[in-house]
Amino acid sequence: MIHFEDVSKVYENDGKELRAVDHVDLRIEKGEIFGVIGFSGAGKSTLIRLVNLIEAPSDGKVLVDGRNLAALPKPELRKVRRKIGMIFQHFNLLESKTVYQNVAFPLSLAKVPKKEIEARVTEILEFVGLEDKAKQYPDQLSGGQKQRVGIARALTTSPEILLCDEATSALDPQTTKSILDLLKRVRDQYNITILMITHEMQVIKEVCDKVAVMENGKVIEQGTIFDVFSNP
Ligand code: ADP
Ligand code: ADP
Repeated sequence: MIHFEDVSKVYENDGKELRAVDHVDLRIEKGEIFGVIGFSGAGKSTLIRLVNLIEAPSDGKVLVDGRNLAALPKPELRKVRRKIGMIFQHFNLLESKTVYQNVAFPLSLAKVPKKEIEARVTEILEFVGLEDKAKQYPDQLSGGQKQRVGIARALTTSPEILLCDEATSALDPQTTKSILDLLKRVRDQYNITILMITHEMQVIKEVCDKVAVMENGKVIEQGTIFDVFSNP
């Protein structure tokens, strides 16, 4: 589903090269919840941003459903990107818009007819348990509710992949658990492939089928949770 083939990303800082992602090979299969863990600066954000081509690789290939994103013509790329949703640590909601409007936003941009938008948004808000919050604004919501809006917004366009960038790092442990339970339901109900980056071991152990450990741009270990974290 998502394949990294010998992928590197090199940044130039004042003429000095920084290899943020260093010869990474990963295979993430459909329907998996795949976690990438590592300390700050390990290269996790860069890695996840290579999947929707917010960053282009300096070397190697990132394949989504067998297609090399960097080689796709613009219209094709736009189509593939629509199949990739993303959620963020600080939720990135539009503060001047209601919950309903935030969730509807990607569909409004895509000029989906109003009736269809209404049906879809209503369905997704029910799925994330926010049907009674449609008219509220983000600043009237708790952190967990905001992330539910973020998840709902990411799901409206029916993505096949959900990228989670430290999605629970701003939340307390109990709220984190409820968001992780929701992500499991997202996978189970829609068979969405979930790639999450985090610095929290508990998150990985709670939901991930597989994990990669990153250090200095390199994946130093990968496998099932059992493989990677059971002591020899
Ligand atoms: P993590 O998400 O694990 O904290 P990042 O991918 O954000 O790691 O960063 C990896 C390395 O790449 C860090 O040394 C960071 O300073 C550097 N880096 C990230 N983005 C950029 C950028 N746009 N320009 C230059 N250096 C960057
Ligand atoms: P407009 O698109 O005319 O500017 P708004 O942006 O205020 O209207 O709202 C966008 C759409 O969201 C409208 O069609 C409105 O009927 C619909 N809407 C707002 N709240 C809800 C809700 N709780 N349930 C269903 N539809 C809603």
